[in-house]
Amino acid sequence: MSKQKFLIILCAVIFFIGITGSIFLLNRPHGTWIESVQDNEVLYRLDLADEENQQIEIEYEGRVNVVQIENHKVRMLEADCPDHICVNMRWLDSSVPIVCLLNHLVIQFADMSSDIDAAVNAVFMCFFHETIMEQHGWSDYIELTKSRQAEKL
Ligand SMILES: [Zn+2]
Repeated sequence: MSKQKFLIILCAVIFFIGITGSIFLLNRPHGTWIESVQDNEVLYRLDLADEENQQIEIEYEGRVNVVQIENHKVRMLEADCPDHICVNMRWLDSSVPIVCLLNHLVIQFADMSSDIDAAVNAVFMCFFHETIMEQHGWSDYIELTKSRQAEKL
């Protein structure tokens, strides 16, 4: 078996693990901490178990989203966006985040994001390595990997 073939199979396996891992993570039980993130900045981090019923207004370029917390659940109650996908997602109940694309706003369970990032990164890293392989060949790839490791040490 050629090294190229081996790498392709390896990538396929890692890709498969990434996908199944992501599905598993999306469905696993989650905590009660939620966060609302806008342009990579965490605006609020709240524990739904402790929060009173309330509405939080979040503004973005003059447009307003209203986040509602009720009976220890959270949803987008109102939004100044044309599609209202975020409102139609109703209560946050899995690790699929509520996203308002126009207002760059994400509401998600706080303990989920890092796990999903890790799974997605694993898949991307695999393709990244394969690209280096194609551009520089196998020996260069090994040299590059060695120098990367040396840099870290
Ligand atoms: Zn929206």
